[in-house]
Amino acid sequence: MSATPLARDLVVAQTRALKLPGIARTFEALARQARDAHWPHEDYLHEVLTAEQASRHESVIRQRLREARFPEVKTLDTFDFAAADGVSATQVHTLARGEWVTAPENLIFAGPIGTGKTHLAIALGVEATKQKRRVLFARAADLVRQLLEARDGRELTRLQQRLLRVDVLIVDEVGFVPFERAGGELLFNLITDRYERRATVVTTNLAFAEWVTVFAGDEKLTTALLDRLAHHATVITTKGKSYRMRKRRGGGS
Ligand code: ADP
Ligand code: MG
Repeated sequence: MSATPLARDLVVAQTRALKLPGIARTFEALARQARDAHWPHEDYLHEVLTAEQASRHESVIRQRLREARFPEVKTLDTFDFAAADGVSATQVHTLARGEWVTAPENLIFAGPIGTGKTHLAIALGVEATKQKRRVLFARAADLVRQLLEARDGRELTRLQQRLLRVDVLIVDEVGFVPFERAGGELLFNLITDRYERRATVVTTNLAFAEWVTVFAGDEKLTTALLDRLAHHATVITTKGKSYRMRKRRGGGS
């Protein structure tokens, strides 16, 4: 016995009113299967609810991915570990499991330009979104500018609280642009607030000894910042020539 058109329309309306898109998409096909295979009613109910659960899971992950504001989505399966000097595939795949986010521990990618630092930071961020973590990607210079603007608009506390709710904050390109003292201090405060509470990822083209140049020559602040950042941290040092340059030259190194 199949459903009356009226019953079908009522269910469609109910899935809309109750916001059950997973059930809306699957209930008819599952009903056919249930009829053909003589499922007990409970089995049918279980299957449609499972479809709804899967649909909600997917939509949270899509939402997390949107909120992360990655400049482009990079993944681990498009990363060529054979071409990445200094990067251990085993280590990165272990990190992909996300224990460092729970801990929380920091990640620092240091190395020359074009060696995959941003790619890996984004890819591990994408993995974290799959575990429903809140992730936010920002270039260091943009983040500092936002903090300064928020301070000027008397909205600093609100921005700081918002940033503190993010499970994984990716600060890209520390070292490209030096910060003025006030900006450096705001970034310092952010890293300090997150210390041992939330995971932070930093990519940088500088050796730690050079970081002081980014923070307006302030040795004390730089030392304190590196202390907190690197205390519970995995440091991955990428080496070699730019990946794209090597590709352009036909794979030679
Ligand atoms: P960095 O942040 O270290 O300057 P990127 O991660 O932005 O470098 O890499 C530059 C470009 O080269 C990106 O498009 C990135 O996807 C690609 N790339 C770098 N290393 C690799 C790699 N080992 N496998 C695949 N693509 C790579
Ligand atoms: Mg980069």
